[in-house]
Amino acid sequence: MPEVRIYKVPAEATAKAKSLLEAEDFFDVKAKCASCGSILESKISSSEIAKYETSESRGKIKPPEKLCKCGGQWKFEKKQLVINEFARTGYIFRSAASIGMKDGSFIYIKADFDFFAKNEPFLTALNIELANSSESIEAKEKIEAEQDAAATGMGGIFG
Ligand SMILES: [Zn+2]
Repeated sequence: MPEVRIYKVPAEATAKAKSLLEAEDFFDVKAKCASCGSILESKISSSEIAKYETSESRGKIKPPEKLCKCGGQWKFEKKQLVINEFARTGYIFRSAASIGMKDGSFIYIKADFDFFAKNEPFLTALNIELANSSESIEAKEKIEAEQDAAATGMGGIFG
């Protein structure tokens, strides 16, 4: 059963919260050059990763665009997809002011226990904790009212 959790974002953690929530998926990569043995350790976005690999298009083999300095091809020893689970699960980020509340911002997340068990530590590491119960109730009501209004086409523009 999914549950809703409301997190309070202190003003000074807003920028870090946004970069966590909006981060692109990426591959955590370790590759070795097939020619000279150089090692590449990097985070590569999912849109860039194909440039490191041989591709095939209509039976034609195309060499990778991205090569080692020596011209050799990279062979992946590790290629682990790191997904932004906040983006995948969905969240609502609202400044307190935009929903008629005080101080900082709120993050609204509806997800299963497993999601929270795995991802809540990334928030607490940024000093983003569960909102206290009265703030949590108020923020949840206001955000859900806003969502309902938007869904029925009566919503304005929410910041
Ligand atoms: Zn090389």
